[in-house]
Amino acid sequence: MIDYVSELARLLRGCLPSSDELEAIRERKLRALISYAYEHVPFYRTRFIAAGITPDDVRGVSDLRHVPVLTRDELRAAGADGRAYGVDLAHGRVARTSGSSGKPLAVFRTPGEDRLRRALEFRSMRWAGLRPRDRIVNVGTTHAIPTSPLRYLGLYRLTLVSPSLPVDEQIARVRQLQPNVLWIYPTALRALLGRIGSLRSLAHPRTIVTSAEPLDPVLHQRVSTDMDVEFLNFYGSVESGRIAWECAAHEGLHINADCVILELAGDTELPDAGSSVIVTNLNSFAMPFIRYRLGDRCEFIQRPCSCGVALPLMKPPRGRDWDVVKLPSGKLLSPWGINPFLRELDSLQQFRLTQERSDYFVLQLVLARPIADHKLATLRRQLLSHLGEPVTLDIDVVDAIEEGALKFRTFISKVAAGGAPTRVRAAQNP
Ligand SMILES: [Zn+2]
Repeated sequence: MIDYVSELARLLRGCLPSSDELEAIRERKLRALISYAYEHVPFYRTRFIAAGITPDDVRGVSDLRHVPVLTRDELRAAGADGRAYGVDLAHGRVARTSGSSGKPLAVFRTPGEDRLRRALEFRSMRWAGLRPRDRIVNVGTTHAIPTSPLRYLGLYRLTLVSPSLPVDEQIARVRQLQPNVLWIYPTALRALLGRIGSLRSLAHPRTIVTSAEPLDPVLHQRVSTDMDVEFLNFYGSVESGRIAWECAAHEGLHINADCVILELAGDTELPDAGSSVIVTNLNSFAMPFIRYRLGDRCEFIQRPCSCGVALPLMKPPRGRDWDVVKLPSGKLLSPWGINPFLRELDSLQQFRLTQERSDYFVLQLVLARPIADHKLATLRRQLLSHLGEPVTLDIDVVDAIEEGALKFRTFISKVAAGGAPTRVRAAQNP
């Protein structure tokens, strides 16, 4: 196992590793994780033996390719075998994934691992430019956030406003709290704006942090034209904690590469949709995640950030693996490809593309004011040309689009997409 106390101290000091230190930290933690999982976690031991590998075969990050990629279904089916011998569920924390895939997974961590996770979150917030005295209001998460010593000291004070409260109550709470950092899921932001029209009448935050879902350009533009506010994107998951955070240079998200190893599965058919992310969590031993397919689609940025931080960069996540358009010929396409055409509609407030059948699409638009029929006809022509196959596309201008309770999706497919990536492209961060 890793030395929790020194790792916790390292993260709480807020130090970021230099590029020289980074590989050494990753390899040390990875070797400890692989050995521990082999010795103490029945599921991984069985898996490694079946793949014909021992911990000696995984001495560094580039050797990870010998370990089979793991799916959420496999880990769920493993049950208690996916946890280390002797793990006591009563003494630790169990969190559940959101279940947007339809099947939530219970994720266990020990109190020590939970402290590491929070320390990593504080380090990420600090380097992203959030200040210890900021008043942060989070609208989006439904997880209880545990208290921490830093919050007892009044640092990084964070208040939760549940997105399951009536919208008027959420608005009243945010107005009363007057955050200078508004941490909000795009779905929740859209719901608030739908009621009050502009963010300006709600609060005057210095920064808006978005996470959990992709921020579509329509929503981003709608807020930016209304007020001068900095947007920061954070990326994380229940299984791996904080994966990446955006710095003030806004050139991408810095990957916490000393705590997670990210790999991308090769999927050349979808060049503008990113690739499926495979994560190895270097801080979780009681329930390890080794080469675990998260279901998100991401893309690395192969250049350093001008801020000087050595942690590698990635683009904001592009959505989920199942957000894929499958055309009648079997060709796969990213639904994000329609965004540039929609950006031309300056009165667009919200949209959703639904693939009803392989050859039938419906695009719903919510508009602030009516637009000329010929503009809609042009849009339809552009989109059909983009799809490039004989399909039918209906464009419906509607008053509102029905939202899910917690997640809004700009693309819905009623067609089984398939398209699972088969080849892993890069075994290391850039
Ligand atoms: Zn940077």
